[in-house]
Amino acid sequence: MPQMGSVAFLGLGHMGAPMALNLVRAGYRVTGFDVVPTALEAARAQGVPVAGSAIDALAGAELVLTMFPSGRHVLDAYRGANGEPGLLAAAHPGTMFLDCSTINVDEAREAARLAVEAGHRSVDAPVSGGVVGAEAGTLTFMAGGEPADFNAVRPLLEVMGKRVVHCGAHGAGQAAKICNNLILGVSMIAVSEAFVLGEKLGLTHQALFDVASAASGQCWALTTNCPVPGPVPASPANRDYQPGFASTLMAKDLNLAVNALHSTGVAGQMGALAAQIYDRFAAEGGAGRDFSAIITEIRNASGQPAGDAAAGEPAEPRLPGRRRTTTAHDDGSPE
Ligand code: NAD
Repeated sequence: MPQMGSVAFLGLGHMGAPMALNLVRAGYRVTGFDVVPTALEAARAQGVPVAGSAIDALAGAELVLTMFPSGRHVLDAYRGANGEPGLLAAAHPGTMFLDCSTINVDEAREAARLAVEAGHRSVDAPVSGGVVGAEAGTLTFMAGGEPADFNAVRPLLEVMGKRVVHCGAHGAGQAAKICNNLILGVSMIAVSEAFVLGEKLGLTHQALFDVASAASGQCWALTTNCPVPGPVPASPANRDYQPGFASTLMAKDLNLAVNALHSTGVAGQMGALAAQIYDRFAAEGGAGRDFSAIITEIRNASGQPAGDAAAGEPAEPRLPGRRRTTTAHDDGSPE
């Protein structure tokens, strides 16, 4: 039995169920619970032992892992709400509360404060990597909390993820996650605008990719999750924008970033604009599509047909063994 080997795993949704299963397979004694009976039953059928209530799941647990939709769910569960008893009051003193949900930084700090005040330990450790990463055990965890508490949960996080980073004090994991996704959301919109502008100007997707991917426009949104089909065969654009990372989750994370911009008084504008753009896209039917599908919204608003002429032949067909010529300078800057 590993250290912290007895785990109450609460929230067996898209992410939680496969994460819990990986802990079971690694020898942790897991008892799961979800308020939605179908989620509970699906996890049980996959091999996660379950209890009939959150409080039952807590019996004997050294660690309580929550994987909930929002901070409100976490705080309500910790304190107790709607006639349900709170987890903090029900747990044995000294229990480790590990929240892996993506929530507001302020809520994460409040959850940690409540846990410590109740005599427990607390780490926030939101994830990136999506359902595919949860199933494969290859998530990235961004953790916040006391160093000793982080070290105590690290072996368990390493079962569910391939990269575990201690980012600082309570809330620092959430802070790192939303700062990263602020960069990602804004950069995907910029890359998408550039491709649509290129289409209007008669530039092929491949030509723009060949320049920007080797120049100062280089970024993950372009070179890994490219919003047009072709240049990066594995990107969601090649499979009709099946996620990947769904637009609704990008909208959620950008709104958490905007909340943090406001609460800290940072005069950021791009994050707020990106949040509005993704909110609208999600509300108008794009919620379940990969966030790179934002390019379709930009095209629609620009009167640009989807089957654009510029998406045709690459500027320079790739032949085996042929050396590629680009328009970028050796130092990576564009012409
Ligand atoms: P989900 O909605 O599929 O799962 C959350 C589960 O929590 C639901 O089944 C819900 O019934 C359950 N729940 C809510 N309150 C509960 C309570 N008090 N007790 C027990 N169960 C409760 O969401 P998800 O996609 O699994 O995401 C979970 C978290 O991970 C979210 O915060 C999300 O932002 C984050 N996240 C998701 C992804 C992704 O690709 N899905 C990627 C990174 C991070």
